[in-house]
Amino acid sequence: MNPSQAAPGSQASLREANRLRVLEALRDQGAMTQVEIAGFTGLSPATVSNMVKELDTSGAVELEPSIRNGRRAVLVSLATGSTLIAGIAFGDRDVRVALGTSPRDIIGRQRMPLPADHAADEGMDRASRLLLDLVEKAGKTMADVRAVGVGIPAPVDSVSGQVGSESILPGWRGVAVAAEMQGRIQAPVAVDNTSNLAALGELRCGVLQGVQHGVYIKLSYGVGAGLILDGDLFRGAAGTAGEIGHLTIDENGPVCRCGNRGCLETYIGARGLLDALASSHGPLSLRDVITRALDGDPGCRRVLEDAGRHLGVAVAGLVNLLNPEVIVLGGQLSRVGSIILSPMRASLERCAIPSAAASVVLRESELEMDADVVGALVSAAALLPAGAGVLATAVSIS
Ligand SMILES: [Zn+2]
Repeated sequence: MNPSQAAPGSQASLREANRLRVLEALRDQGAMTQVEIAGFTGLSPATVSNMVKELDTSGAVELEPSIRNGRRAVLVSLATGSTLIAGIAFGDRDVRVALGTSPRDIIGRQRMPLPADHAADEGMDRASRLLLDLVEKAGKTMADVRAVGVGIPAPVDSVSGQVGSESILPGWRGVAVAAEMQGRIQAPVAVDNTSNLAALGELRCGVLQGVQHGVYIKLSYGVGAGLILDGDLFRGAAGTAGEIGHLTIDENGPVCRCGNRGCLETYIGARGLLDALASSHGPLSLRDVITRALDGDPGCRRVLEDAGRHLGVAVAGLVNLLNPEVIVLGGQLSRVGSIILSPMRASLERCAIPSAAASVVLRESELEMDADVVGALVSAAALLPAGAGVLATAVSIS
């Protein structure tokens, strides 16, 4: 994902895009004064000043007194001694890679499309090449990358480390991703499900900061959830907690890709939504459905409203079980906002225990499409030995 894609509207994404512009300018131009950074990036001097202060606090840049044009000046440069960490998030149709000095200090990112039925080897090769490319652009070597977090959009067995489903991501079945990626990257690798990582990203750097009990729901081609309990990510016995997409909504419903009948995902996953529109609208992509719904297309709005209703029933179950303070909606489909949120809220209020439903707040994701890759960086930072600079940074933001 490039910076302009990372910034659809919100204050947080605007700040993130500005931060990336400053870091990229320093990476490409070398040390500069704040006036020069403002001139080079087109950002206002006040914005640059705030950004540099923030980057200095997090250790991503170094400040050095100097003389410029006969005057005293402070030169800002990328922190050379920084340990680098990387986050890799495989989506259903793409892979995104981010390189940073901490989960908040991303110095570069790249995205590449992946075919839906790609083999694991191909996905991992492409991700490794993207990472190498980012590292070289930053003027570093792979030896500077000390840890990598990887997200997979399927259950990952935390005991065996393998992608734990025969049918959810067929090309990755049984692959021990951490070991395979470690072989390619020569750095320690942590692997988790992308919904878990998105929850972790929002917990450390986004809308779930300070929340004790929360749920992150990822609505994309599939649907998944990451659970925050007692202020930390809850993975369950084998790492597959939060598989909300495969909760049974109707025992006699359509057969799901997991082999069960009537899973939530058969109603609100991309395949179900697109099938429902095929006879009236012809072949559409998920992105088409989102765009058309936002433009007011009644059919597209209707299937998304129905999806919101079904989602609310499943979420009511979660609310009764866990009594969370906050539920965050993220993933591509969350971009339709109230088209899904309003019917979801109505179902939730109808189906959950009133006191639990009344105490839960529904929020939109703050990190948006970056939540999983930021979570991957958080999980990478956690692999570093205590004392590494980046770990201190990661801890300071929690
Ligand atoms: Zn299923």
